[in-house]
Amino acid sequence: MTTSRPPRMSEPPSSPSSITLKGIAASPGVAVGRVLVLGDSRASYTRRRITPSHIPTEIARIRRAVEQAKQSLIDVSAEIPPEAAPDQSAILDAYLMMLGDPMLHTRVERGIRDERKCAEWAVAQASEEIGALFGGGDRHRDAYITERRHDVEFVCDRLLRALMGEPAAIVPRLDQPTVIVARDLSPADTAGMVKEPVIAFVTEVGSRTSHTAIMARALEIPAVVGTHDALHTIRTGDVAIVDGLRGEVIVNPGPIALEDARIRSARHLAFARGLLSSRDRPCVTKDGLAVSLKANVELPAEAILALDHGAEGIGLYRTEFLYIDRATQPDEEEQYELYRAVVEAVAPRPVVLRTFDIGGDKFASTFRLPAEMNPALGLRAVRLALSQPEVFKTQLRAMVRASAHGDLRIMVPMVASVHELRQVRVLLNASIEEVEQRGFDHAPHIPLGMMIEVPSAALMADVFAREAEFFSLGTNDLVQYALAIDRTNHSLAPLASPFHPAIVRMIAGVCEAARERALPVSICGAMASDPLAAALLVGLGLRELSMEAAAIPEIKEALLRVTLTECEEAAYEALRAESADAVEDILAKLFAPRFYDLLSGEARLSEPEIEPDSGECDGAERADAGDDDAAFA
Ligand code: PEP
Ligand code: MG
Repeated sequence: MTTSRPPRMSEPPSSPSSITLKGIAASPGVAVGRVLVLGDSRASYTRRRITPSHIPTEIARIRRAVEQAKQSLIDVSAEIPPEAAPDQSAILDAYLMMLGDPMLHTRVERGIRDERKCAEWAVAQASEEIGALFGGGDRHRDAYITERRHDVEFVCDRLLRALMGEPAAIVPRLDQPTVIVARDLSPADTAGMVKEPVIAFVTEVGSRTSHTAIMARALEIPAVVGTHDALHTIRTGDVAIVDGLRGEVIVNPGPIALEDARIRSARHLAFARGLLSSRDRPCVTKDGLAVSLKANVELPAEAILALDHGAEGIGLYRTEFLYIDRATQPDEEEQYELYRAVVEAVAPRPVVLRTFDIGGDKFASTFRLPAEMNPALGLRAVRLALSQPEVFKTQLRAMVRASAHGDLRIMVPMVASVHELRQVRVLLNASIEEVEQRGFDHAPHIPLGMMIEVPSAALMADVFAREAEFFSLGTNDLVQYALAIDRTNHSLAPLASPFHPAIVRMIAGVCEAARERALPVSICGAMASDPLAAALLVGLGLRELSMEAAAIPEIKEALLRVTLTECEEAAYEALRAESADAVEDILAKLFAPRFYDLLSGEARLSEPEIEPDSGECDGAERADAGDDDAAFA
């Protein structure tokens, strides 16, 4: 989203030999350390043509390599820490299945038998061919398809390593704080790193939703992803500043840049510590209005993280992530156990489970989605669920059973017409009956709410308010559909502003319709995690905001600094503005000076709080000078 930010502090001057690479800020914080580059094995094998007499040997090599690669994944599975186990194990299981996939084997064996290529070459070629089926190198393809391509590449990389006799463990034991630079890091890699002194990640590919970014945020390690040319530019042993706030990597920085990084790291740490210290304080505006802050989670393990950050419940659990990255759909039992674990972890606070929102930019191969010209406008979310009622009821039954263990609410995504919500209610009632027939418990009442993320739902919120038991505004999609801007299109991203007056008016209308029927209304779009937007949302009438856990302390602090009257004044003006820029200007004028630190991610520190630098060492020496100096993060 675009938000008016205060002017940046002056960029650090770099030394003549230093190089600055730009990427995507995936996990906040600033770290400095020695680099370990995890090479790309696909670039380092020798292409050999083989004679017919070598075909059986190469086929035997590939079969051995498959077994070794499987074993290495099983070994990694055993190392996964319990808190990450459910998420990571499902992904590792999917990798194991991919290693046994006939499509991979047929292609590799064809390369060996028909094209007389050595096993390594045949694997690398198969990786490219299968990867191309997922959309080749088009950066604008949706994030999930891109992730699938990376998964294929990862599995083939494991095979190549096995063929080349490289150690199965990708990350060697580290004895000093280390910055990992890689093309991409899979869950298996990151799981193996948890116990290592890894202080930052830099990857060439990835987005804010890629596995690396999610893991880095969960581990609170700074990360920059999508850093083009990282592998060509950075060498093992280099010193790098990884700036997860600016989305920047400075390789072999000079003393001034190092000093700047030290200061910014200290500021970020002070900022994060200061905010976290308020986690048990209620969220109230300066004049005492209570606002409930909840968390959006994708992975069950994030529920604990959410509570750690002071969430008053889970406002959005995106259950579709359960269906992604696997060869078969999760059955009722598996889903029940996961939902139950989340509900119990968060109890007595509420958990809003959103039924699967597959389709559009969320791709799950097990649904066999049709090829559509406009997937975002196609068979997605509730439409898909209603077209596969048995699959949908499996999920609903799991949710109904989990309701016996805490405050569980069910939310339907992408509702555009009132009959869709009615059909869901019919299926929910049928699921409750089935659960009862099988003798399982459930809560006496399970509230059924809906996302407001399609313009038709926003405009008819008064009608929906008679049918739904709560609303949650999904501004990510509302912006996409109301402004006709594909949410995955990077080049149009600056236009996709939630501050567009059309969006502001829709939010106001939804709040009004909800208020008339005393219906709870929340927002779970990314807009809620922006301090300026949060003040506007409160002014528009929202009293509950749901956002990624890491943003909760920041939004709590922002709201503490403003009064309801000021927020309402901002909303009044925004509703009369002509453009997104005008709305941003209104908010910036009113609030930005007070939010300076929140918008920059850095606390203002008085000088003595930043430890004075000791000695005359250069960047490399400083980076080696011990944990505190080397690993600012
Ligand atoms: C939204 O659309 O704002 C939302 C929260 O849902 P998602 O981002 O999962 O589509
Ligand atoms: Mg949505």
